[in-house]
Amino acid sequence: MIENAPTSPASYAGTEGEFNPRLSAEARLDTAAQLLGLDEGIEKILRYPSREMTVHLPVLLDDGRIEIFTGYRVQHSIARGPAKGGIRYAPDVTLDEVRALASWMTWKCAVADIPFGGGKGGVICDPTILSPGELERITRRYTAELHEFLGPDVDVPAPDMNTDAQTMAWIMDTYSMHAGHTQTAVVTGKPLELGGSRGRPEATGRGCMICTDFAVKKLGLDRNNCRVVIQGFGNVGGMSAKLMSQAGYKIIAIVEYDGAVYNAKGLDIAALAAHRKKTGSLTDFAGGENVDREEAMFLETEVLLPAAKENVITAANASRLNCRILTEGANGPTTYLADPIVDSKGIFVVPDILANSGGVTVSYFEWVQDRQGYFWSEKDVNQKLAEIMTNAFESVVNYAESHKVNNRIAAYMLAMDRVAQAIKLRGIYG
Ligand code: GLU
Repeated sequence: MIENAPTSPASYAGTEGEFNPRLSAEARLDTAAQLLGLDEGIEKILRYPSREMTVHLPVLLDDGRIEIFTGYRVQHSIARGPAKGGIRYAPDVTLDEVRALASWMTWKCAVADIPFGGGKGGVICDPTILSPGELERITRRYTAELHEFLGPDVDVPAPDMNTDAQTMAWIMDTYSMHAGHTQTAVVTGKPLELGGSRGRPEATGRGCMICTDFAVKKLGLDRNNCRVVIQGFGNVGGMSAKLMSQAGYKIIAIVEYDGAVYNAKGLDIAALAAHRKKTGSLTDFAGGENVDREEAMFLETEVLLPAAKENVITAANASRLNCRILTEGANGPTTYLADPIVDSKGIFVVPDILANSGGVTVSYFEWVQDRQGYFWSEKDVNQKLAEIMTNAFESVVNYAESHKVNNRIAAYMLAMDRVAQAIKLRGIYG
């Protein structure tokens, strides 16, 4: 038997189950597997991560003390290519969260039809109280502990919550020192100077916008008359806000962990970014009013774009949603138990594994460019991204319509079928 084997669908119910991302991920997998009529053995392979690693990292703090930080790397699947996915730094990282995130990377890469499996990493730490030197030492030790299990053909990390291009540069350097030569393709989301790709910082936000554009068209709306509420103002939320406001959408509210700002006429995103840079917060912005952060999520709007954390749309609050389109910029923002409530409201959902796949798609381009040693223009990157996102969106929506399932289950079915085909063709070794 496998450790932590899921018990029964009943375990998904109740508050505890609802907020465990692994259970939400498995519940959708169960639904999709059943509808696909998937072979029981193949379903088991898709359910369990192929490799899970836990490392306890001794790190010298600035004050001379030694602290131990726990880190994880889960490689959910390598059936279609190397494991691929970000590393997040946060105090509340759990192994189950990383497992869910790793499986979502597998499905995301399969929906986008790029030749990767899925992986995810996390380190339990609070980046707000760590110095750059401490973060660098955590990153280097994490990489050193795992270096045998990383590599351009093995597992290719990228940024996620609270990690960035600098973090990737440290990983690339540490890995390269162990390899004895510079190996840029071991991570993506790097600085341009070290083999990063043009367009990568904007990619997830751009992908969210492309998907929203399609959804808007599908509902017969016009983006110049569309209001947008965004949760999160980091890489995904901030970039989506910037690109979408430039494209004509009216961003009426931005919700962050420390407050929310609202302007019915649309926020000036560049001015808001400057205000946040200066004051450290979105609140008390001259171009908008402070509003309650819980309430802001339920404002009347055409588009709601959660781009922060998991579990923000739940069974307890989904009935209050007041949007026509839900574009999931974050991973896992909607719980399994919220899905039927969202559906009953007729909301057009662009599920996370489709909506935020622009980031990993340009990561794929970065990996290709590093391996070729030949770098593309931003125009080429954006054009190729648009091609992949268009195919992915159309495939998911057509699948949903032809199989009479919602967009999320369609995305899971499409992805799981692709991974299952790869597994069947490869066969079971051993
Ligand atoms: N962390 C991002 C995600 O969740 C990007 C992953 C990548 O580029 O590998 O999709």
